[in-house]
Amino acid sequence: MLTTWEKAIFVLLILATAGAFWVPIVRRLRIIGAGAAEDRFNDFWKRFRHALVKVLCQRCTLRGERFFTGLMHVGIFYGALSFDTMTVSHTLEGFIDGFYLFGKSNFGLFFSLVIDVAAFTVMAGVIFLAFRRFVVRPKAYATTPGDSAIIYLLIALATATFLYFEGFSIAHHPETARLSFLGSWIAGAIGKSGLGAEAIATHFRIAWWAHVVAVYGFIAYVPHSKYLHMFAGPFNVFFRRSTPSGELAAVDLEKSEVFGVEKLTDFTWKDNLDAFACMECGRCQDACPAFASGKPLSPKMIMFNMEKALLAGDKALTAKKRDDLPELVPGTFTEGEIWTCTTCGACQKECPVEIEHIRKIVGARRSRVLMQSKFPQELNAFFRNMETNSNPWGIGFSKRAEWGETLEVRHIKDVPDADYLFWVGCMGAYDDAGKTIAGSLVKILRAAGIKFGTLGIEEKCCGDSARRLGNEYLFQSLAQENIALFKTYGIKKIVTICPHGYNTLKHEYPKLLDLVPGLTAEDKAKLLAIEVVSHSELIHDLIGADKIALKAPAPANYTFHDPCYLGRHNGLTKEPRAVLCSALGGKPKELKRHGDDSFCCGAGGGLMWTEESLGTRINHLRTDEVIASGAGLAAAACPFCLTMLRDGLKDKGREDIKVKDIAQIVAEYL
Ligand code: SF4
Ligand code: SF4
Repeated sequence: MLTTWEKAIFVLLILATAGAFWVPIVRRLRIIGAGAAEDRFNDFWKRFRHALVKVLCQRCTLRGERFFTGLMHVGIFYGALSFDTMTVSHTLEGFIDGFYLFGKSNFGLFFSLVIDVAAFTVMAGVIFLAFRRFVVRPKAYATTPGDSAIIYLLIALATATFLYFEGFSIAHHPETARLSFLGSWIAGAIGKSGLGAEAIATHFRIAWWAHVVAVYGFIAYVPHSKYLHMFAGPFNVFFRRSTPSGELAAVDLEKSEVFGVEKLTDFTWKDNLDAFACMECGRCQDACPAFASGKPLSPKMIMFNMEKALLAGDKALTAKKRDDLPELVPGTFTEGEIWTCTTCGACQKECPVEIEHIRKIVGARRSRVLMQSKFPQELNAFFRNMETNSNPWGIGFSKRAEWGETLEVRHIKDVPDADYLFWVGCMGAYDDAGKTIAGSLVKILRAAGIKFGTLGIEEKCCGDSARRLGNEYLFQSLAQENIALFKTYGIKKIVTICPHGYNTLKHEYPKLLDLVPGLTAEDKAKLLAIEVVSHSELIHDLIGADKIALKAPAPANYTFHDPCYLGRHNGLTKEPRAVLCSALGGKPKELKRHGDDSFCCGAGGGLMWTEESLGTRINHLRTDEVIASGAGLAAAACPFCLTMLRDGLKDKGREDIKVKDIAQIVAEYL
């Protein structure tokens, strides 16, 4: 349909669009490629299936908390896919008169209907999103409004010009109407307007060009904006982590020259891909307890600033000129950001494209602690206490087993046929509330006839807090000593009362075995076979197997707070509820945020041992939810959470609401 001159101009437009599209993509690909190595190519088909299903079913955005926004996104996504297909047809029509991609097939008829429906859903979606962004203006959307305005405008223009073209196309060539109900309606209006055939032909030509310019403008602009997530997002989902969300990767301290992330060059290629996949939706920010409590941390801004820094430092990154780059903190992340993360994982759980924030934050902490010795002052005492007495308070290590003396808890070496090693943990050994939990579990295990022992004064802190506070060296020292004890006593099963110990022992210790000197292949195989269970799981199984009998429950008014490292990071949300249901009857009154959407108590990520001096206390936000539930008893399954909830309720003058661990509750009902 185009003249020779028009075809030449059109070819130039295609080339210019291709250039504008590929230049920023190649730039970003080079930055991603400059990242440190990391293997994310295992389980190819599993990854492929997951990414395909997630993208096609739009499980990335079609979720509870923003369901309507997700629905609109679906409309735009499928609409855009249809328009992309139509753009191929439209482009070829420029060179081949009357070209239609699907010819006279039935699918072609069907597609003509689909594309009109798409025009409708895309327009509705864009109007809704524009209204939400520019009129409602939620905090989550605060970044790059210009990007959004341009993209919404281009999508609206592309849709409007398509309808303009379709109407005049049908008016000009009625046989192209097919099942285009919108186009036919517009063509009808054109017919009634009395426009002559020549004017219709002119409009037809102008409309074709207008649509081409709008669509090609959109294609050229996308990779320059946050809408690059259309391409980077599915790849990011494909390369998602295959390890549990609460697990941190081990660092080989012997072989590494740099510990953690000191400069942008220390991020892996997957970290860099994360930064380019972020769509700035702010879901992570909405879920973040640090942000909600007024701390200077927003996981969204972590990714936003990282992307900006990567683009600003692209030359040094791709040329591997490490010295030309500023330090990550404070160059890209601030001290306030990196030291207020509880590693609760809410951001990662919410992120539609499965970005991993925690390892970036902990990576920054590692370099601050191990390379630069710059960290909050109060951590000096924490690290020193850990080094000297293997517990956070610095209480003499010889007192570690005192909690169990009156209960006559034996050392594992004195229980040769032990079913379980009871991992007491620092809270269970030294903290008053923790000791009650430990004593309760002892009572339960004895009632069930389970033989168990502890490591007594030999047990060291599992190292969870030290690791999440960036002190990988301290973590590995503690872990190696504990692993040596597991080997010495031939441990086969471990039960924990603390989800932090559970997560560390279950997921992180096995990954350290190659770094522990002196272990034979046989030792490693035995250590890898150790089964680690949380007390929630074990009590649940004991009740299920009728190994413990509980008094008939009296109807209780209770709620349950899901610890992040039990629920979200390890998927144990049903077991504690089933235990509580057996002991207390009925179901818990669920808190506003529960299950794997739970809200952190504020103690994770080692923050139990730092001063919470900025903003509101996170445990106050959580206890507000407990109070709002109207429950008279708040159950937890973590000694950290127990302490935070109890303190929060005390601060709020609501000590009438009892806080108990599930082990305590079960022990009371034995
Ligand atoms: S892990 Fe939790 S505290 Fe840290 S950034 Fe994510 S949501 Fe915020
Ligand atoms: S990190 Fe994920 S959840 Fe957060 S703004 Fe980016 S895409 Fe959204």
